[in-house]
Amino acid sequence: MANYNQEMYGLGSKRSVIRELFEFGRRKREREGEDAVFDFSLGNPSVPPPGGVPLALSSLATTPGIHGYTSAQGDAAVRRQVAESLVQRFGAPVGPDDLYMTCGAAASLCICLRALRCPGDEFIVFAPYFPEYRVFIEAAGGKVVTVPFTEPDFQIDFDAFGASLSEKTKAVIINSPNNPSGVIFTEATLKRLATLLEERSRTYGHPVYLISDEPYRELYYTPAPPPFVMNFYRNTLLCYSWSKSLSLPGERIGYIAVHPQAEDAKGVYAAICGAGRALGYVCAPSLFQRVAALNADTAPEIEAYRRNRDLLYGALTKIGYECAPPDGAFYLFVKSLEPSAQAFSDRAKEYGLLIVPGDDFAAPGYVRLAYCVDYDMIRRSLPAFERLYADYR
Ligand code: PLP
Repeated sequence: MANYNQEMYGLGSKRSVIRELFEFGRRKREREGEDAVFDFSLGNPSVPPPGGVPLALSSLATTPGIHGYTSAQGDAAVRRQVAESLVQRFGAPVGPDDLYMTCGAAASLCICLRALRCPGDEFIVFAPYFPEYRVFIEAAGGKVVTVPFTEPDFQIDFDAFGASLSEKTKAVIINSPNNPSGVIFTEATLKRLATLLEERSRTYGHPVYLISDEPYRELYYTPAPPPFVMNFYRNTLLCYSWSKSLSLPGERIGYIAVHPQAEDAKGVYAAICGAGRALGYVCAPSLFQRVAALNADTAPEIEAYRRNRDLLYGALTKIGYECAPPDGAFYLFVKSLEPSAQAFSDRAKEYGLLIVPGDDFAAPGYVRLAYCVDYDMIRRSLPAFERLYADYR
């Protein structure tokens, strides 16, 4: 028997579908040239950070003490600036002492889960969901309960949700705009969700928390921004990240905001500080806390993504592919042309199209296309999508 943790070994050595697609693409490019591969597999922002980021970086670089530790919950002035931005833009009920700066949304989620989880707790996730949720919940010692989605609009299946809630439910995770569907939960969905959670919290005699994972909050194509989740339900923990909005995924910067009227909000906040400590985060990156604070009101460069979305969604639906209209993020979730999304993705590879099967997102029968890519690559890929479709007809 190996002398290390088998669960961690399993996580570290498991075959990654996206990694395999990447390796396939690399080999095909070497054999057939750059233009033979159309890679839609990765959610890495393709636009450079907005101008405010390099500006802040150059002005901050020589500030004395800029690379030192900050307090564990984040620099006080940074939290003040971020809180002010949330109040001003969304009417959020938060102040600086409700914010905890983190190393991105992944860290925000892991910290919240570790802070909340008690023995026997369950966490509800809505398909389709970011595959790491399962890893994060199980690593925190919780049990994952999955609720299916409604077709074709990818909202919440409330009958299934109602049946999945129980005394054991500690929290529910939502992600809107969504990876992988690009769908935004409507105000009606959020109101219904809040009403149900309030009812069940009363029935069970303890709060059912809502963890709102919002790395794509600023990436929307609708005239108005997505409804601000925290304003619908007081027992909310908001997990934010600037990875996508400021194109900074490698810099690891985000925050948690605890609704100040959440039940025992101060206790939850202290548990978040404890979880950040136990997980060894120490503090969020000091320089990028300041860069993010200076850019708290900076809007992302959305136009390139909108152009990509319009081209890809328009062309694919014209060919005959079925897909939920994507109102946010930078993904299309397309119905597979055969029951097995893996088999469909394998067939697409023959045409140089790298697309991710939906099975790991708990949505078998769909594939995800990330359109944070070069516009010209999308344009060149369209004949391949046409040939793939014709192949099935
Ligand atoms: N949540 C969702 C839905 C995501 O898509 C991602 C990254 O792709 C994350 C969380 C993690 O983001 P971060 O880079 O901020 O850790």
